[in-house]
Amino acid sequence: KELTDINQLADEFLRLSYHGLRAKDKSFFADFHLDADPNLPKVEVISQEIGRVLLNLINNAFYAASEKKNLLEESGNLGDFKPHVWVATKNTTESVKISVGDNGNGIPDDIKSKIFQPFFTTKPTGSGTGLGLSMSFDIVKAHGGELLVESEIGKGTVFSIILPKKP
Ligand code: ADP
Ligand code: MG
Repeated sequence: KELTDINQLADEFLRLSYHGLRAKDKSFFADFHLDADPNLPKVEVISQEIGRVLLNLINNAFYAASEKKNLLEESGNLGDFKPHVWVATKNTTESVKISVGDNGNGIPDDIKSKIFQPFFTTKPTGSGTGLGLSMSFDIVKAHGGELLVESEIGKGTVFSIILPKKP
């Protein structure tokens, strides 16, 4: 474990994810932004592992937001919808909270109960392994933290990583 600047990690992985997705698909586009708490303390984590969790949540968020854009476009209802992904960090008394949000279509309840299971995916063959969230859940748990999800159909999804300051 090493003292890690989560704001820096989040900034790095937002860009990495965005540019990675664009490299694969030139038509891919989404707005993204980081709302970084300037008072966020460094936390003692395995940076590579927490980085993987962040990258997976961010990739999922970009996928959900751009999937919604594509669906709206296909049905001619794009209107002024703009796919958007954000990461917010927050210092609280006992923990550091990292939220990853998107304005995609949200997760129906019957699917929500399965997303942390290994190999569960709703993505077409080849674009998802279904391992991201189960791995992320295990990594956050091994750090003594929690991985939470809130989602509203038609509005979007927010995943939150809660990491204790004192492991
Ligand atoms: P994968 O990304 O390979 O499908 P994950 O474990 O990362 O595997 O996610 C599992 C499933 O959870 C996804 O296939 C999708 O159905 C759902 N999911 C995850 N993140 C989101 C999100 N931000 N919005 C909507 N659905 C999501
Ligand atoms: Mg994934």
